[in-house]
Amino acid sequence: MDNDWETIIGLEIHAQLNTASKIFCGCSTRFGDVPNENTCPVCLGLPGALPVLNRRVVELGARAALALGLHINQRSIFARKNYFYPDLPKGYQISQFDQPFSANGELEIMTAERDEAGHPIEWRPKKIQITRLHLEEDAGKNVHEGLPEVDRYSYIDLNRAGTPLAEIVTEPDFRTSWDADMEKGNLRCEANVSVRRKGDNKFGTKSELKNLNSVRFMQRAIEFEVERQINVLESGGTLLQETRLWDDRLMETRPMRSKEEAHDYRYFPEPDLPPLVVSKEFIEKVRASMPELPEARRKRFMEQYSLTFSDASQLTSELALADFYESAVAASGNPRATANWLRSELVRELEAANLSAGDSPVSAAELGALVRMIDEEKISGKQGKDVLVEMFKTGKGAESIVAEQGLVQVSDTGEIDGIIDAVIAANAKQLADYRAGKDALFGFFVGQVMKASQGKANPKVVNERLKVKLNS
Ligand SMILES: [Zn+2]
Repeated sequence: MDNDWETIIGLEIHAQLNTASKIFCGCSTRFGDVPNENTCPVCLGLPGALPVLNRRVVELGARAALALGLHINQRSIFARKNYFYPDLPKGYQISQFDQPFSANGELEIMTAERDEAGHPIEWRPKKIQITRLHLEEDAGKNVHEGLPEVDRYSYIDLNRAGTPLAEIVTEPDFRTSWDADMEKGNLRCEANVSVRRKGDNKFGTKSELKNLNSVRFMQRAIEFEVERQINVLESGGTLLQETRLWDDRLMETRPMRSKEEAHDYRYFPEPDLPPLVVSKEFIEKVRASMPELPEARRKRFMEQYSLTFSDASQLTSELALADFYESAVAASGNPRATANWLRSELVRELEAANLSAGDSPVSAAELGALVRMIDEEKISGKQGKDVLVEMFKTGKGAESIVAEQGLVQVSDTGEIDGIIDAVIAANAKQLADYRAGKDALFGFFVGQVMKASQGKANPKVVNERLKVKLNS
């Protein structure tokens, strides 16, 4: 039974640091250029060429480290990680080993139990310990398609060799594959997965999963691996600690052949680079330049806009969505109603159209204008829903759609009384039944009045006036 088991997941994430040039030379990091165009003696690993550290890499690495709550070491050491592979011309990768750039971080992520369809039930915060973030260079790429006679030749493109990476290692703090649904971006990930019986304190034997090229595949791979491990253990078998590759065609993990593995990297300090030393002032300058981070923004949303935890969590889950919300509130003047309209109505349209808030055909200012028209009772909430769908379809503003369709909410008591009188006069039998105690007929009268007003009557006023008239 799956319910007897607990899943333990730790992640190793390689994130590209977004610089214009490579980590140890001036070559461009541009993607998609002619193969081997962006290379020089340093990134080709030619004898005698010397690496020089790119200052921008240190700045971006420091921002990433601070965002993950890591402690930046003022002195760190680059190390050679030795292994042989055709896309690694030097025969080693410059990385960091026992004195990394930063360590001991903590990050609060949002996680949720999921229903059968995978939709979150209730969001809650969860702390993940971050072991370290260190700086390193990427390798080149073997190319197996799109070139002449690829069945006979292997091609190597070294444009990517020397692209700066931050490797982020977490403690085994994730408990479900959903936890690991991290920010999408330019990153590659490995996952260490094990299972243990609930109540056990000892970790089980882990597999290291590689070749997880997207967040979706990572989730699938972890789910497959958890099932596999539980099946082996429940049928009385034992697990090997091994590296397994995810095959996204067969949708399964398989063990790497032993010769594909290289456990002993023989790390030693890189003699061509001095220790990386950063000053306290540098770290503080980077810290002062940081944007507001999601956790802080969620807390601010709860205080400043009186939002619930759940509202604030969803609205700060994406930078574009959080920015959109704040602009919309500025236009509407009603934070709660804006959160409701954004979360329930607009996000649904965006999801159906597979768009992010940043690409919404309805601007934040226009959503705000719509919310204000409803607040001011110019149109009803129900009309507002139709107007929003129309805004989404046509890209037109709320006011122009309301004017075009002649949507006006009638709140004038005299006008509504007139409609009510006509409806009562036309339904004498229902009136008698209602007055004889058939309370359920109240809804019938509301419906008739709304219909007679062509949906324009303010439902609140209709309810109030009907109560008076029917009971008099
Ligand atoms: Zn280069």
